[in-house]
This record gives sequence, C-alpha cells and structure tokens, in this order.
Amino acid sequence: MDVEAQGQRAGSMRQLSRIPFNRPCVIGTESAFVSEAIDTQKLGAGGSFSKASEAWLTEHFNAPLALPTGSCTAALEMAAMLLDLEPGDEFITPSFGYPTTASSFARTGATPVFVDIDPVTMNVDPDCVEAAITPATKAIVPIHYGGTPCDMDRLAALAADRNIALVEDAANGFGSEYRGKKCGTTGTFGCLSFHETKVIHCGKGGALVINDPTYVDRAEVILEKGTDQRRFVRNQVDKYSWRDIGSSYALDNLRAAFLFGQLQESDNILADRRDVWQSYHRLLTPLANRELIELMTPPENGRNNGQIFWIKARDREKRDGLIAHLASHGIQAVFHYVPLDSSNAGERLGRVSGALDHTYSEADRLLRLPIFYGLCDVEIVVGEIGKFYDRA
Ligand SMILES: *Cc1c(COP(=O)(O)O)cnc(C)c1O
Repeated sequence: MDVEAQGQRAGSMRQLSRIPFNRPCVIGTESAFVSEAIDTQKLGAGGSFSKASEAWLTEHFNAPLALPTGSCTAALEMAAMLLDLEPGDEFITPSFGYPTTASSFARTGATPVFVDIDPVTMNVDPDCVEAAITPATKAIVPIHYGGTPCDMDRLAALAADRNIALVEDAANGFGSEYRGKKCGTTGTFGCLSFHETKVIHCGKGGALVINDPTYVDRAEVILEKGTDQRRFVRNQVDKYSWRDIGSSYALDNLRAAFLFGQLQESDNILADRRDVWQSYHRLLTPLANRELIELMTPPENGRNNGQIFWIKARDREKRDGLIAHLASHGIQAVFHYVPLDSSNAGERLGRVSGALDHTYSEADRLLRLPIFYGLCDVEIVVGEIGKFYDRA
C-alpha cells in the first residue's frame, strides 16, 4: 500500500495529521525558474532548463551522459531496453522493493528473480545475489533502500566477473555515497527519481545516468521516441526519423525548471535532511538501548542522504499499534513494502531464489517516520514514540 492509500485508510486521522509523513520540498527559486521557462515559449523537452538540468546532472555524476526523464520508472524502462532484455532472460532484484523496479524490466518479458535482503541495511544481500545467478541472468538490479548505499564492491565484482549488467535503482539515492563514490555511478546505469517524495524533486521526474559510453547514442534515441531528434537538433543530421524502439521519456522544460532550482540548492537540501536524520538517530538511541526498537544505522562504508528514517518494532502487532498511536496524535508514520514475490504480478511473472526470511520478518516490523526538508518536529515525534512504549 502506498503512502497516499495509507493516508486514506487513516481517514479522519488524516485531517488531524499535524505532522505529515512527507511535505514536498520547496526552496523558493522554483517559481521564478518556471516563469522563466514559460517566457521562453519552449515548454516541451529540449528547452533551456531541460538542457541546463542535463548538463548539471552529467557534471555532478561525472558521467558520459545523464538524461533527465519523466520519472525513475522511465529511466528503469530505458535501462531494460538498452540491455535488450527479452523473454528467457532473468534479472535479480530484492523482493523488498518498489513495484516498478521489477515491472520496468519484466515488461520486456524477462523474469524477475527475487532474493533476500540484509536486515541491517535492508539492501539486497550480495550472497543471495550470487546464489541466484544462472546462465540466463542478464542484469542485477539493486536498490539503495532509504538512501543507504548497497555493497557496491561486491555487487560490481559479481556482475563484472560474469559479464552481467548492474543497474542501480538509485531512486532513493540522490546524495548518497559508497566509499566516496556517488550512488548511481557504479553500475552500467543509475536510475534516479525526482518524485515529490524524494530528497530532490520536480513533482514527478527522474534521470538515467549512463556510465558506460557505449550506450549513449542509443539512449538518446530511446529517450526521444525512437528518433534521432537530438542529433537533428545538434545539426548532425538534416532531418530526423524513426531509428529504433523508444518512447517519450524526456523531462519537459516546465518540470526541468522546477528541478533546476532544487539541483542548484541540493547541498543545502541534503544538509537539512541529514540533520533531521541525525536528530532522530540521537533522540531515539535511548529507546534502542532499552531494546524496545531497532534503528536505521549510518552506513558503514559511505554516507546516506536523509531520504528515510526507519525504525523496527518488535513485531507486526507492535508496529501497527505504534502507527495507530502516532496517527491518533496527528503524526503520520507509514510502512512498506509488500514483498514483491507475494504480490499478484510478482507471483505470476517472477520466481524466488533462496529463502526470503529477512524480507518477510523485517517488512512486518518496519515503519518510516516523517522526514522532509524543514521538518522541526523531531522531538514531538520521538516524544510520542516514548509515550507509546512507557504506556505499554
Ligand atoms: C520512488 C521509487 C521508484 C519510482 O520512482 P518514480 O520516479 O516515481 O518512477 C522506484 N524505485 C524506488 C526504490 C523508489 O523509491
């Protein structure tokens, strides 16, 4: 169930919600840039802010090319197309994941192979990935869950040894780093989300970071409806035509203008989110020391981005009780994910490799606390969690 649906189910609670789970970040430059975009009279893709965001992202990720897209889902779909996945192929991804991580690849006819996670990071367990590899494996698709970087050394080695593509679902990973390397820059591709629930956003958007230059030309064609329109715009061909499969994946100038404002301020936005994250961690440590809850921990070999702050209750019953307690005090905390292998589509289209013990035990206990740019109510949230446990 997504955040909106959980909010709806809370019904009247939602009206009381003083502290929402998310409040989309607005830093103040967005409307001026959007007005400027309107004044250019070029509102589709390829406008000045689409270009500026593309240049910013390409430089930031130090990549051959980083393309702004309409969503992270679009970027994932592009990655699957670029890898020429087809029926009979397999890709390995955590069952504890977002539906489009799997569906973007499964729509090619390839089979998702679901594996377990490491309960400490909630990221895919590299040992489980290794055990799931078969001659049909074409891609490994890890998720940097909640902004905690995956063990990229292990995953990259597994992929390179067997000539398998590595595609990072870095939807949660803008600003996160593994051993000093930005999330999204190690795999063949990195896929980012700029949905309003993410650290940096434009309502709905994303990016495909292309780290292997051999994919650049075809990615440009797939992005622009299967045509060589981008070459035409650069005067490299005298007309543009249909070249390949593709879709309408490029980010339009209006949303790119909003995004560009946030990208320019991304260091400040990240610093604020990391402060909120640190406050939760500091203030909840006493409850964790009493072994009433478990806390998300800072990454061992990197840096997170304050995308999510999760805690784990003892079991599902306690977790649901805590969510209800917080809701009754106007604080919206939410759970997720429904393990993908147990979903209707996952059962039909995928298969499981190995046991998924951690996926099931941890998804049942996890809840995410409100976290967003400018949140100053951490003490109130932590206070209510304390009262829940003292009362119990
Ligand atoms: C949000 C999210 C997505 C989807 O991003 P969109 O930009 O909404 O398509 C994919 N994967 C993960 C892990 C996410 O958190």
